[in-house]
Amino acid sequence: MKKVVAKFGGSNLKKKEDIQKLVRVIKAYDRPMVIVVSAFYGITNHLIQAMDDVKKDESNIEKLVRFLRELKEEAILENFDDKDWQDRTLNAVQSRIKELSRYLTGIHYIGDVPEFVEDVILSYGERLSSLVLTSILQSNGIDAEEALPEQMPLVTDGEFGNATVDFDISSANVQKRLAENKIYVVPGFYGVSEQGKVTLLGRGGSDYSAAAIARCLEAESLDVWKDVDGFMSADPKLVTSPQRITNLSYAEAAELSYFGASILHPRTVEPLKEVGIPIHIGNIDAFDGSVAPRTVVHGTETVTDCIIKSVTYSDDFCILKMRGPGVGLKKGVLAKVTVALDRAGINIKSVITSQIVINLLLSAKDIKRAYSIVEELELSSITELIASEQISTIAVVGEGLLDRPGVAGRLFMALARKDINVQMIVSGASAVASYFMVAKDDRDSAIEAIHDEFFK
Ligand code: ASP
Ligand code: MG
Repeated sequence: MKKVVAKFGGSNLKKKEDIQKLVRVIKAYDRPMVIVVSAFYGITNHLIQAMDDVKKDESNIEKLVRFLRELKEEAILENFDDKDWQDRTLNAVQSRIKELSRYLTGIHYIGDVPEFVEDVILSYGERLSSLVLTSILQSNGIDAEEALPEQMPLVTDGEFGNATVDFDISSANVQKRLAENKIYVVPGFYGVSEQGKVTLLGRGGSDYSAAAIARCLEAESLDVWKDVDGFMSADPKLVTSPQRITNLSYAEAAELSYFGASILHPRTVEPLKEVGIPIHIGNIDAFDGSVAPRTVVHGTETVTDCIIKSVTYSDDFCILKMRGPGVGLKKGVLAKVTVALDRAGINIKSVITSQIVINLLLSAKDIKRAYSIVEELELSSITELIASEQISTIAVVGEGLLDRPGVAGRLFMALARKDINVQMIVSGASAVASYFMVAKDDRDSAIEAIHDEFFK
């Protein structure tokens, strides 16, 4: 029997009583499976801050240890009735926190956080979740076992902070470690290099961990549990009658995730689409005893009547405009700029060029640094450098978008009627997505206008 891999994220682990909901869902599956968990909500950010604080002042180690211990104690007292189980779990949690505090003491004394230590420290949010959840499942009479990625091992390409899983090496390892007919609980967010060093899979990377494990196991499905109703035609906070999307193709889900829909990490689809494993999205807050998904992501590409399935946005695209007469004609400009940005570890999300301007789309966190780097290159062909930060990128996504006439016309008419100025448009790069930029202040009304046009 094929396994199901289910992933529970930080949004499912906000309050101490939330774990009971996970247990109910896991019981409802009533089959052997693999559970991948994230850290409790906000814990990874907390650990990032702690690394900084601890460098300056050793007493911050004790503060973090106390904070984590109290948080876990509350969850343990809430979720275990049996005193023996409580004590056993508390002890196990204490020793795991102790391991973490040793790494923190190390960074305090060397006054620096080497990247291989940073990745280990940040993996502790997930390690604490998996430990507590395993214990709670066991105390509920479920045959559960914690399986750490280093025990498999789940091998990556070794890039710290943002690694990619190596399936050629990992698949057999994972199958072997997770072979029995029981419930395995795996902490998400990290794998290990070939040398055995912990490597994180990127922020929000537990979805990708779960997808990687599903791929290694040739799972029946990857079930991602959220606290919302799956993919919607637009953010329910911005439009009056959002529709739930029951089916999406892999390409549609990947584009929606890339352009800001926070249901899935953008890399989740990557390991699954080649092998055709479907992704099921469930809503834990609407759980009624059935594990039936709200949205299914799979290989079938369907064109719906309104073509567009969803409109989404991201505020994380900024534009670095490099202007100069003929930048588009001179050779080497883009090469010099991209090499310099790459050296600084800055990712370029997209490049849009014309004869007189090259636009680089960059993440908000990188734009100021990228501006200085390009300025320092002192390229004679760039006469003006502009960083635009107050923009929003809106994407419309749907199979058939490029082949059907009239979609773009309707879209831009809807925006024009609201007097919204479109600053840049990109269409054709992806077969299922077009995106454009507007001033941040126009974002909400642009989404409403488009949604009204296509979904009313
Ligand atoms: N806890 C990690 C993060 O916050 C991974 C995840 O939540 O998926 O980035
Ligand atoms: Mg997450």
